[in-house]
Amino acid sequence: MRSFQRLLSGLACWLIFLTPAFAARTVVIDAGHGGIDRGGVPGQRLAEKLYTLDVAQRLRARLQRAGFTTVMTRSNDTFVGLRQRCAIANSRRNAIFISIHFNCAPREGACGIETYYYSPGSASLAAAVHREVVRTAGTPDRNMRRRGFYVIRNTRSPAVLAELGFLSNRQEGRRITSGSYRQQLADALARAIISKYR
Ligand SMILES: [Zn+2]
Repeated sequence: MRSFQRLLSGLACWLIFLTPAFAARTVVIDAGHGGIDRGGVPGQRLAEKLYTLDVAQRLRARLQRAGFTTVMTRSNDTFVGLRQRCAIANSRRNAIFISIHFNCAPREGACGIETYYYSPGSASLAAAVHREVVRTAGTPDRNMRRRGFYVIRNTRSPAVLAELGFLSNRQEGRRITSGSYRQQLADALARAIISKYR
């Protein structure tokens, strides 16, 4: 009997030890731009800020269903400064940060997917995101790149900035205006996060 109790208490210790490893992580979802900051270039027909928010909301729903805690740096069409976005991310322990953007270029022909990271600790998350998004979008792979963009340089957690296609490209822009395509992009981001952190 005593050995059975010892076994139980040993088991309990192991469960306590193991639980944090399986606990859902927090994902800070950063919808690029917002409010007076439309994103893209001045006069751009499709406002980047609306599509980043929509994908962020879709991603939030998907991650919540998968058991993650989510935090949005903005959840409506308001302006949030870059420093504040980082402060929100840095106030969370055991979090990852994903910044959602759409690209634009003066050359109309430019299209495809770019994924940015800064710290070496963010590289594997960036690789997972890039792989899933490129596979889903089926547009040119414009590579994963290391760059010191403010929000990924100033967040302490693993941080990735995803450029999910060019609004300035007629064909890709048209796809991005479709809700079902944006759902596919959000699902791709979610798959990458779930595969690494669940
Ligand atoms: Zn942007």
